[in-house]
Amino acid sequence: LLMAYDPARRLARLQVSLERAAVNARMIYEILDTVPHQRDRPDATELTIHEATVELREVRFAYGSGDEILKGVSFRAEGGKTTALVGPSGAGKSTIISLIPRFYDPKSGQILIDGQDIATVTKQSLRNGLAYVSQQPYLFEGSIRDNIRYGRPDATDAEIEEAARLAYAHEFILAQPQGYDTPVGEHGVTLSGGQRQRLSIARALVRNAPILLLDEATSALDTESETAVQKALDHAMSGRTVIVIAHRLSTIVNADKIVVMSDGRVAEEGTHGELARRPDGLYARLHNDCDAKSDFS
Ligand code: ATP
Repeated sequence: LLMAYDPARRLARLQVSLERAAVNARMIYEILDTVPHQRDRPDATELTIHEATVELREVRFAYGSGDEILKGVSFRAEGGKTTALVGPSGAGKSTIISLIPRFYDPKSGQILIDGQDIATVTKQSLRNGLAYVSQQPYLFEGSIRDNIRYGRPDATDAEIEEAARLAYAHEFILAQPQGYDTPVGEHGVTLSGGQRQRLSIARALVRNAPILLLDEATSALDTESETAVQKALDHAMSGRTVIVIAHRLSTIVNADKIVVMSDGRVAEEGTHGELARRPDGLYARLHNDCDAKSDFS
């Protein structure tokens, strides 16, 4: 039984099952280390991150031989700042997020982190610099502790607890029948959407990566959960470069930069104040359309 809970073994088994199942890339984002190994270039270097600035230059992309989804996307997400991606469904926001950990490679153009083309660095060093929080957090069978530890397999119990505290998860974890050792996943306890999200944020916090990719939830949580999740996210975003697929108006308004996507292109970019003032801009239109709602999607 002890062996079954050993995180390294669990990860090894997970890797095998991922390879067998070819799980949807979106699902496995949160555990970037365990993505089936893809070969690096023989001359790949280690990514070194200083400012953690992410820059896309004329990125073009299609899934397989399908239609072009990204049609020359360029923008810069400044180090330590929050860049919000907004735009209609299908505009290509999630696709952009999936190119950064190199789940896919652009057909042309470049993605740079602190000036280093991510195509030229080892995937391990790239993914060590990234954390991801998804809309639908994925929990594996195993304990709550194991699920947070997926963020960084060598994290100590103390580090896991610290991350859980920062993610406003510690209290509800202690309230579970076996605390941190409570099993979750298919055969474990049922957690609410907000609790799952806070575990996912704890997982990202324990990674302590300088770049956070965030797919903000669209589904409504109850007010209490919403507040806890938002506070947890504030911790996770603080001091990091954040690229967020943003749905909440407050995230968008507070972002350092908003990149408005439309049909695979950057339609406009700027702060909320700048974009909202453009009378004919796409952002101003989207913003007016959703004024009555708190959601922006
Ligand atoms: P949403 O807000 O609805 O998630 P989005 O702006 O994030 O939209 P993407 O999910 O990036 O947009 O999708 C852009 C286009 O790429 C869509 O036409 C979508 O159908 C297509 N697409 C997304 N993922 C895949 C995939 N794995 N294989 C083929 N096509 C895909």
